Amino acid sequence: MGIASGRDFVSDRARQISASASMALDARAKALKAAGQPIISFGVGEPDFPTPEPIKQAANRAMVDDATHYTTVSGDPALRKLVADRTAEMTGVPFTWGQVIATSGAKEALYIAMQVLCNPGDEVLMPAPYWVSYAEQAKMAGAVVVPIDTSPPGWKLTPEALRRHLTPRSRVLVLCTPCNPTGAVYSDAELAALGAVLEEHDVAAIVDEIYARISYVPVGRWLRAAPQLADRSLIVDGVSKAYAMTGWRLGWLVGPPELIQIASALQSHLTSHPSSITQRAAQFALENNASVEQTVDEMVGIFRQRRDAIVAGLSTIDGIVCDEPEGAFYVFPDVRGLYDRPLGPNRRVVHSAAELSAYLLDEALVVTVPGEAFGTPGFIRLSYALAMDQLKEGVARLQTALR
Ligand code: PMP
Repeated sequence: MGIASGRDFVSDRARQISASASMALDARAKALKAAGQPIISFGVGEPDFPTPEPIKQAANRAMVDDATHYTTVSGDPALRKLVADRTAEMTGVPFTWGQVIATSGAKEALYIAMQVLCNPGDEVLMPAPYWVSYAEQAKMAGAVVVPIDTSPPGWKLTPEALRRHLTPRSRVLVLCTPCNPTGAVYSDAELAALGAVLEEHDVAAIVDEIYARISYVPVGRWLRAAPQLADRSLIVDGVSKAYAMTGWRLGWLVGPPELIQIASALQSHLTSHPSSITQRAAQFALENNASVEQTVDEMVGIFRQRRDAIVAGLSTIDGIVCDEPEGAFYVFPDVRGLYDRPLGPNRRVVHSAAELSAYLLDEALVVTVPGEAFGTPGFIRLSYALAMDQLKEGVARLQTALR
């Protein structure tokens, strides 16, 4: 009696889950900035642009029109129809609005997908490096994470590597294209080859296309490449990155009716549905409004310029190898050449990406995310979703700190 502390009441399941490393770093950067430190953050996973004005106005109208009550659990049918039509148009696979559920961000869509598909002990395969939440969400579903290492410069999962990691317990493959953190973009042909492997086995797919609008090469589409897998594929996307709407929290899950109905049942006990006002704003965003799409195209053009600038800047640093990513807004350079040698004016020595990121924050007030967070030590992730002058200043600080 009386010896248990709060910690003793934490479930075994919750104990296994780590906090999001990238969000924790972002919080630390924001706190340091708020305290007046001249932090430059390459840590952020969100566009720095404002949400396009007409989308904000649509949200204002939603409030004025009293769209402030519960919607249906899966989201407003008008919004879901827009998503279904887009998906059908992009893939050639017919979709109805009943095959779409709107969620509170793509993150919730991924969480639900994992809950819908996985039994305890099932294996969830994911190319490494992987986005931080995939592994934790798989664990929340009681599943076992099976990382499949990929390597630069392409960072692509190959059919051979996939085949080597399949076991009778394999349940689902998680793919992210364009990829966070590597920026790799799969072509239709590459996706088709992976689809052919899954087809031979009873393995489902979760495909995260949240960065599909931010690519500098043509983006392959899973269902266009592997339409025969439509009855076991869940596609995740949302407005967060494409429309600079991270704070609004609106994503979606598209899939076969049987799986989407169960996803909806789960959501009915989870968040009920995403914010009614956000749904109206997202609906406007997806209506293919010319001025909104033009704004998005401009953002992608600016991201591309920044990508070129950061790749060029990092490539001047001896010890860093930075390949050119094809999509999203991250670079994922190899930093192993910086280990075990004196760095910067204080001649600090580091032995890991985690130590390097910590050093860069202390020494240069620059935030980066170590590859350990993504299952791939030896690399760091830098987001270039920041203004060009900040980017250049950040790269200059890195050049000094890593000399
Ligand atoms: N998937 C990936 C690969 C991401 O990078 C992110 C955001 N960092 C998400 C999903 C989550 O997106 P949302 O903000 O819509 O939940």
